[in-house]
Amino acid sequence: MSGHPTRAGWFSAGEVPCDPVPPPRDHPYRLVLLGPPGVGKGTQALLLCETLRTCHLSTGDLFRAAKCDGTVSPAMKSALKAMKAGQLVSDEVVLAMVRERGECLRCQGGFLLDGFPRTVRQAEALDEMLAELDITLDAVLCFELPLEEIVARLSGRRTCSGCRAVFHVTARPPAIPDICDQCGGRLILRDDDRPEAIRVRMHVYEEETRPLIDFYTRTGKIVRIPAAGAPEEIRDRAISALHEHLGIAAAVPN
Ligand code: AMP
Repeated sequence: MSGHPTRAGWFSAGEVPCDPVPPPRDHPYRLVLLGPPGVGKGTQALLLCETLRTCHLSTGDLFRAAKCDGTVSPAMKSALKAMKAGQLVSDEVVLAMVRERGECLRCQGGFLLDGFPRTVRQAEALDEMLAELDITLDAVLCFELPLEEIVARLSGRRTCSGCRAVFHVTARPPAIPDICDQCGGRLILRDDDRPEAIRVRMHVYEEETRPLIDFYTRTGKIVRIPAAGAPEEIRDRAISALHEHLGIAAAVPN
């Protein structure tokens, strides 16, 4: 599997198979990414998936894809309203979506969950889902950064309206202003990156998601990663810390 797989199974809840289907691995990575909004989880998810050759399972991407879909159910409409305001979508809706995608958790290529779980209830439900599937989580990669730097990162972030690649007005500017380097799409400020939504998201993170650090520290899964520096530097730091945690050699195993 080279580059970034299509994630067809994830987006279609298993109705459309991934192409290519990830080949079996001796040790598929099964990871969760954790960290406040703006810490760079999305960028790290892409880099880590490329290097570790595993699949990027983002719940936020599911909601953004639903937003572009003409036929939105009433439950999805209220989910998108919460998302636009920077609030969390209800646990019921999120858990129903993830349960429908159990096959992705069983995938022989492994997975990297980004944006899920976000509450203790979601984390408990994930534990139950994984136990039913007889799957063990390898680690929870927890990215950490001082608040001032987070605010600077979020307010300058621009996302491609086509392929969803992420840029930054100063730290990672596109070659042509407001145009995506990868697909030529228009770069936009995400609704949930507007200043008023950022404030809500930071508050929600502190209240709902930060307790997951304690939750996963208790189970010995947390790997803390300082998220300052260039994206590739942070990725390398994350992989070294992960391999140290797992007690495996530096190279990515098959
Ligand atoms: P993200 O791309 O992960 O930052 O997600 C964007 C938005 O989607 C969040 O601000 C939430 O409104 C919603 N969302 C994504 N994942 C979850 C989740 N696990 N629980 C609740 N809301 C979520």
